[in-house]
Amino acid sequence: METHHKHPLTDLISSGNTQALSKAISLLESVLESHSIAAEQLLDQLQSHSKERSVPSIRLGVSGVPGVGKSTFIEALGLQLTKKGTKVAVLTIDPSSQLSGGSILGDKNRMHQLSQSPLAYIRTTPTATHLGGVAKNTRNSIQLCEAAGFEVIIVETVGVGQSELEVHDMVDFFLLLHLPGAGDEIQGIKRGIMEVADALVVNKADGAKAPLAKKSQQLLQHALHAFPSRDNGWKVPVFLASATEESGIDQVWETIENYLALQKETGNFERQRQQQQIQGWHAEIKNTLQRAFSQDPNIQNYLLVLEQEISSGEISMQQCIKKAIAAFRGK
Ligand code: GDP
Repeated sequence: METHHKHPLTDLISSGNTQALSKAISLLESVLESHSIAAEQLLDQLQSHSKERSVPSIRLGVSGVPGVGKSTFIEALGLQLTKKGTKVAVLTIDPSSQLSGGSILGDKNRMHQLSQSPLAYIRTTPTATHLGGVAKNTRNSIQLCEAAGFEVIIVETVGVGQSELEVHDMVDFFLLLHLPGAGDEIQGIKRGIMEVADALVVNKADGAKAPLAKKSQQLLQHALHAFPSRDNGWKVPVFLASATEESGIDQVWETIENYLALQKETGNFERQRQQQQIQGWHAEIKNTLQRAFSQDPNIQNYLLVLEQEISSGEISMQQCIKKAIAAFRGK
């Protein structure tokens, strides 16, 4: 495919066509070389379009263990936003292929109501098998959604795997949902992810669980004191919400908007995005090099030879590393 020709999907995506958007995301996720080339071409062409946008989108990460109510919460939030005329895209990362081979998300009809809205776009991304695949695809999918005119991009991850820290590094605000009562250990939430969350929400604060939720809120508030304070002075709030009763959600959203307004005033918003861009770029370089190394048949054959040499004690580990890298560079 010639790179100077406009990709047929470019204009369709710019005009907000969600079918074209889905096709483009599929190109990103494809393992076929011709598809990745097309996807890169698209991203290049769309990048110049999105630069013209005057108001940047809001990128929101939502995480929490399976069953905490992420999809219910996101649907309720999404419906509130679309009611106000805001275009909302939801990108869900499904880690099931990695963990069990089955689907954590199941076949349930997720966010059925929201998916009916012409202002909403919902997409589930399976975790890719190759290194750095999820992060790269999600980063690029966010860009595609923005090019298609979506104003709020919600990235949903299941808070049990690797991907949520990566997602944290590509959003403007990161929300962590908690269940009433259960401790962090029980919820399988890693300390690291709690430490970077910009707000916590104790969901299911309704019915008989309401008092327990209140207690969890206090415990979490207390636990947050142990974390180092943020450079921007932000005090991480802990909310109570009920996604099913749609209570507490507007308060969460208001806080997100206020936070981002403040971030923009201080220039932190732009700075954070730039840092994330650089970080993502470094990660992609690293992954690309690593893939090139491990997929090169000559190198793989040479490694077998070196393995022999190293196991027979003919050369040192250091020499062996140098040889392998030199062989790779020599190409
Ligand atoms: P996810 O796996 O984190 O996406 O969780 P879901 O959104 O699929 O919710 C898991 C279950 O909890 C579903 O049966 C929901 O109806 C229920 N649920 C979600 N939010 C609430 C809530 O705020 N209150 C109550 N009582 N149930 C909820």
